[in-house]
Amino acid sequence: MSNPSLLILPGDGIGPEVMAEVRRIIDWLGAKRGVTFDVSEDLVGGCAYDKYGTPLHDDTMAKAQEVDAVLLGAVGGPQYDNLDFSVKPERGLLRLRKEMDLYANLRPAQCFDALADFSSLKKDVVAGLDIMIVRELTGGVYFGEPRGIFKEGNERVGINTQRYTESEIERVARSAFELARKRNNKVCSMEKANVMESGVLWREVVQKIRDTEYPDVALSHMYADNGAMQLVRWPKQFDVIVTDNLFGDILSDCAAMLTGSLGMLPSASLGAPMANGRPKALYEPVHGSAPDIAGQGKANPIACILSFAMALRYSFDMGEDATRIEQAVEKVLADGVRTADLMGPEGGVPVSTSGMGDAILAALDASL
Ligand code: NAD
Repeated sequence: MSNPSLLILPGDGIGPEVMAEVRRIIDWLGAKRGVTFDVSEDLVGGCAYDKYGTPLHDDTMAKAQEVDAVLLGAVGGPQYDNLDFSVKPERGLLRLRKEMDLYANLRPAQCFDALADFSSLKKDVVAGLDIMIVRELTGGVYFGEPRGIFKEGNERVGINTQRYTESEIERVARSAFELARKRNNKVCSMEKANVMESGVLWREVVQKIRDTEYPDVALSHMYADNGAMQLVRWPKQFDVIVTDNLFGDILSDCAAMLTGSLGMLPSASLGAPMANGRPKALYEPVHGSAPDIAGQGKANPIACILSFAMALRYSFDMGEDATRIEQAVEKVLADGVRTADLMGPEGGVPVSTSGMGDAILAALDASL
C-alpha cells in the first residue's frame, strides 16, 4: 500500500516558520512511530505571486486535488495589499477551497486548562470549554453573484450577494450532525432568518435534515447576532454550532479569543469523500501571516501543529497519534512553556517558535 500523501503549502509571513515545526513532528512520526508520509511542498499566496504572477499555480492546484490532504500555513502581507483583487494572496486560498469543494470548515475552540487565566473572559466561563464551529465555506456572500463595484447615477455602489441552494445547506448540516454524534449530540444553527430570506431557507433546511436523518441529535436555532452575544456570555452552552460563511467567519474568530490566542487555533476544511474514502481536506491554522512578527522566531506554532493533528484524525484515521500530539501540547502548556503571545501579565521569558517545537518533541518522546 502506498504511503499517505500530504501537500505542504507554507505560504507567507510566519507560515514557513510554523510549518517548519510541523515538519519536525512529521519526521518524529517517521522515526519513532513508523508512520511515513509522501510529503511534497509548494507555493501559495504572495510567494507564489512573486514567482508565477498568480497566487496559486495550476500545477499546484492539480497536486492539491491528487493528495490525501493539504496542510497550509498562512497567506498575505502588506506588500500585496495594493495588488488587483484577482491576484491577491487570499485568492489562492479561496481557489483551493472552491475547486476542492471544501464546504465544511471545522473550527474547534478548546480552552486548555493551563491557559484559562489567559482568556479575556472569567476563568469559570472558559475553563474546560470545548466547542466546534462548523462554517459553510464555499457558498454565501463571499461567492454569490452579482458582485462588484458599479456606477449608479452619480455615485458608485458596492454589491455582494448572499446566496444558498438547498443542497449546499443540506451537506454542511449533515457534517455538523455527524460531528455532533461523535461529541455531545447537540447542534445550534445560526442565521438571520428575521431579516434575510436566505436565513429562512437555511433554518428550514437544517430542521428538515435533522428531523428526517438525525432525530437523535438535539437541534436549536439562534439569530447570529444573539449567537455572538451568547458565545461571550456563556460559551459552554454550545457543543456544535453550524452557520454560514460570513457569520461563521466572524463567530469563529470571536470563539477563538475565548481560548486566549489566535496562535492556538487549528482548523479543518472538508469536502466530499474521494475514491479512497478519505474526504478532500485542507488543514490550516486560523491565524493569518502575522507580518508584525514574521521572521523574528516569535510565532506560536501550536495552531499549525494542532491542524496537523486534525489531519491525522480526519484524513488518516490516526486518532491515537493525533491525541498524542494534543496531549504533548497540553503538557508543555501545563509546564509553563509559552511563546510571546501566551505571556500573561505576570511576565516571564518566552520561548521561540523552535523552542516551542523542541518542548513538544520532548513531550512526544516522553509519551512513548
Ligand atoms: P493575523 O492572524 O495574521 O494576525 C493578528 C494578530 O495575531 C497579530 O498581532 C499577530 O502577530 C498575532 N498572531 C497571529 N498568529 C500568531 C501566531 N501563530 N503566534 C503569535 N501571534 C500570532 O491577522 P491580520 O494581522 O489581520 O492579517 C495579516 C495578514 O494575514 C493579512 O495579509 C491577511 O489578509 C492575512 N490573513 C491570512 C489568513 C490565512 O492565510 N488563512 C487569515 C487571516 C489573515
